[in-house]
Amino acid sequence: MLSEKIQQALNRQITYEYAASYTYLAMAAYFESLSLTGFAHWFRIQSEEEREHALRFFDYVNDRGGRVTLGAIDESQNEYASPLDAFEHALAHEQRVTAAIHAIYALAAQENDYATMSMLKWFIDEQVEEEKSADEIIQHLKLIGNDGVGLLMLDRKLAEREEEEDE
Ligand code: MG
Repeated sequence: MLSEKIQQALNRQITYEYAASYTYLAMAAYFESLSLTGFAHWFRIQSEEEREHALRFFDYVNDRGGRVTLGAIDESQNEYASPLDAFEHALAHEQRVTAAIHAIYALAAQENDYATMSMLKWFIDEQVEEEKSADEIIQHLKLIGNDGVGLLMLDRKLAEREEEEDE
């Protein structure tokens, strides 16, 4: 059985992952409004992945005999100053998610909850990838600056993102 504290933390994480999904969907809408459909596609997939993350926690709480309860999701930010601004918000969001996952891991370690620690390992690795890919795009956007051609080239590249297979 899950401890009350861990169950609470995992339930909170489900809400965080849905909040991330909702934020990324708002970012997809922002990029659609700019006709940057490659960026929009990238965020749409990102949004779907976050929903999968939420469901991974959802299933885990149930598998451990816990009770899932869902919290409130804040309104998403819909406007951004620029593509770079949107990606900087995305990276900041991922960094908060990483910190939250690390905090649950620390709690699980404190309670000798080895199963939760093991489940979180996938997320810890995943967060390294999430932060890396957001940061890489930020660096490219900085290089591009106000160059429209560069932006369209990146848009083409982001359009190629494929949905990840479930591991
Ligand atoms: Mg996530």
